[in-house]
Amino acid sequence: MKIIGLIGGMSWESTATYYRLLNQMTKDTLGGHHSSKIVLSSVDFAEIEALQRAGDWDASAQILAKEAQKLEAAGAEFVMIGTNTMHKVAPAVQEAITVPLLHIADATADRLKIDGIQHVGLLGTRFTMSQPFYKERLIAQGIKVTVPPEWHQDIVHEIIYQELCQGKVSAHSRKQYLSVMDDLKAQGVEAVILGCTEIGLLVQQKHTSMPLYDTTELHAAAAVKLALKER
Ligand code: GLU
Repeated sequence: MKIIGLIGGMSWESTATYYRLLNQMTKDTLGGHHSSKIVLSSVDFAEIEALQRAGDWDASAQILAKEAQKLEAAGAEFVMIGTNTMHKVAPAVQEAITVPLLHIADATADRLKIDGIQHVGLLGTRFTMSQPFYKERLIAQGIKVTVPPEWHQDIVHEIIYQELCQGKVSAHSRKQYLSVMDDLKAQGVEAVILGCTEIGLLVQQKHTSMPLYDTTELHAAAAVKLALKER
């Protein structure tokens, strides 16, 4: 079994989900008392969030690159960044280490392709929805991506930072997300990517008939598959 390196804390609410899923999926595969081998580096999200707001991606890239190096030094055989947004600095993180970085958008695209989904809606932070770093990676793999209009992006973004990253889950916000999804459906999307690692805390498949692709789950599943793959 390979040792998984996880850069977490962005926010810790979703890192807790990652930790549970990685272990659960390993146990589901191997049975018995098996669990994942994980080295975790958990950052202070307040520092990262302030840099995001300031648009200082170089500084946050340096922080995450350093954490990735620590994970590699601690024995991680591949590294994952437990947030979609911070994949904006994924190239700098990969450059800083010699082990592979398991990209969250690739884990998601792989599953979409297996399921034959060609047109998806993307929900996430404003950074993820409005900037090219994430969408382009999906588009390059033949997937058409539609994001909500700006005023819907504002709602989705604010709920992530003001509520989900702070452990607040409200029925009212869930309703707002579901109505954003209805709007995406009217634009012809076949499925919606929960492209922020906290959205799964708010909206799950049981709440909607729209097929959902939860990036936290897909990223964790790809990590367990890679960790358990024979060399
Ligand atoms: N975890 C979130 C994501 O997947 C948002 C928090 C962050 O900005 O890292 O994008």
